[in-house]
Amino acid sequence: MWLQAALLGLTFLTLVSQLQAEDQASLRHANDAAGRCQYTFTVPSPQESGCSGRAETEGVLSRLTSLEALVSRLIARREMGADVEVGFQEGFSQLTGERNQLRQDKDRLKRQVQDLQARVRELSQETDGLRQSCKKTNTSADLRSHQELSGDRGHGFSNGAYQEMKAEVTEVPASRLLPGGNVSGCGEVLSVGDPVLHRKADGITGKYGVWLQDPEPRGTQYTNKTVWRIDTVGKDVRQLFAYEDMDQFSRGFPMKVFVLPEPVESTGATMYRGSLYYQRKRSRTLIRYDVASESLASRRDLPHAGFHGQYPYSWGGYTDIDLAVDERALWAIYSTSKAKGSIVLSQLDPESLEVKKSWETNIRKNTAANAFMACGRLYTVASYTAANTTLNHVYDTATRASRAISVPFKNQYGYNSMVDYNHQQRKLFAWDNFHMVTYHLRLAN
Ligand code: CA
Repeated sequence: MWLQAALLGLTFLTLVSQLQAEDQASLRHANDAAGRCQYTFTVPSPQESGCSGRAETEGVLSRLTSLEALVSRLIARREMGADVEVGFQEGFSQLTGERNQLRQDKDRLKRQVQDLQARVRELSQETDGLRQSCKKTNTSADLRSHQELSGDRGHGFSNGAYQEMKAEVTEVPASRLLPGGNVSGCGEVLSVGDPVLHRKADGITGKYGVWLQDPEPRGTQYTNKTVWRIDTVGKDVRQLFAYEDMDQFSRGFPMKVFVLPEPVESTGATMYRGSLYYQRKRSRTLIRYDVASESLASRRDLPHAGFHGQYPYSWGGYTDIDLAVDERALWAIYSTSKAKGSIVLSQLDPESLEVKKSWETNIRKNTAANAFMACGRLYTVASYTAANTTLNHVYDTATRASRAISVPFKNQYGYNSMVDYNHQQRKLFAWDNFHMVTYHLRLAN
């Protein structure tokens, strides 16, 4: 604005000067030294008597002309600059958006690459395992025949014949499995054996999860030898892996992968009578998935149960609802706002998932690392990280009383995220920091 005002002022002074000068102006012409006609226009200065003033006026006019041109260029540039600024802001916003989108794409691709790398590692190991297995097939078959003939059934899960014998020994009539019924040798836990390693997971998705065998399978397609596994690290856990037996499980090659209809929350799932029972992600909804028909058999909310971090075990991991099976029933281990964080036990109908009966204990759920049911009694594990910890509480549903105990228990790998009892094998199945282990249990009569 000041430039425009100055310009107007100077223009005005110039005009006044010209008007004053026109009164006394004269025009002369004469030949110059070269003989050409030369015209001279004379205007006397109002203030100055000499020619030097005229020269200054011409200088001022010349500079004024230059100034006008400069101002015009500046105004044009400023207008152009405003347009450029608007365009720059729009461009900057667009570039920022594109940069953010690229960052998101980069993160997503990075995760996909990590998953794929983990999968490649797993497949490589499986391939190696299969190669080894092919080489050993003949010698293993010979060895098994020899063991059966000699009566040496061997130890551990790698021997199929041993599994069959074990099933014969531990199967008991259904009438003796009814809730409240007496099951022989179903006293309190006397001791927990050292962990036996069956498989180490590779890749970050194997940090924690669920693995187990069905103590009371239905049909012939899947048996008590079938091993079930869910890696529960991830946002949308839906894959259920089935392995033919413990030997195949140890080698790492699943015979089938099920895609569950609803995502799984945490490590509280269990397998019972041909169905996978689990808690649906971010809800108190329980799901029964029938593996034979590969379909959702029933679903029901567990009334008032806390979920998704309200009442987890001490290790966290959204372990609010832990499902368990023992000689007597299918159970849910959880808490409610009414119980104020104490463990609530409910016996569930295996078909409909309805609550048949409930017990409220005085054991704080967030002080327990994990829990399992055996012979109608709840046991809690004191620590999920300590190498040498204990089963520290038992609650008996028959007497509605709890008691402090101290049965040694080992977390050999330092991060035990799942402990589940298999009454057919009298073993605990656990997932300890990538390691899938079992513990032998000794019970009182
Ligand atoms: Ca458990």
